[in-house]
Amino acid sequence: ELFEEYDLHAGIRDTLIVARNEVKYVARLEEDYGQLPPIEAVGGMVNQVLLNILMNAAQAVKSRHSEATGLIKIRTYRDDENVYCSIADNGPGIPAEIRTDIFNPFFTTKPVGQGTGLGLSISYDIVVNKHLGDIMLESDGSSGATFTVRLPIRQRKS
Ligand code: ADP
Ligand code: MG
Repeated sequence: ELFEEYDLHAGIRDTLIVARNEVKYVARLEEDYGQLPPIEAVGGMVNQVLLNILMNAAQAVKSRHSEATGLIKIRTYRDDENVYCSIADNGPGIPAEIRTDIFNPFFTTKPVGQGTGLGLSISYDIVVNKHLGDIMLESDGSSGATFTVRLPIRQRKS
């Protein structure tokens, strides 16, 4: 496919520009960027994943916080073979009972017209199937959620 050299930090920056109205007046943003190499990825697709996770975080925060106490943290780091981006929010969290459902197409807990329930299923397909990476979720079900995207630096040549 159309893998290219992709700079995750540039992707995050572009995504924050697109999402600025949704994020800016909802939460304080904390950013902690590591030293990352460029990776082989379909940039437009990865940006779509970042946008969905960020919008979900903003909507979660908005449902229980004012601008003064809402918090979204973005962090990047790497290991030998992967780069990682984690997006953490202090929203209501994700109850254990639905933690496996949220990646299913059309699963949403949002009111009709506000969520398609497609964001995380598309994100899973992009990260896991197209890029051989991973999306990991940590949430204690009451004080926020952290989604971590792992993306391999190099795609296997077939
Ligand atoms: P949508 O955003 O359209 O509902 P998604 O696939 O993006 O669809 O998310 C599915 C569901 O996962 C959401 O409706 C919500 O219940 C849950 N979810 C996703 N991210 C978060 C989050 N950061 N905090 C709490 N719940 C979340
Ligand atoms: Mg969504």
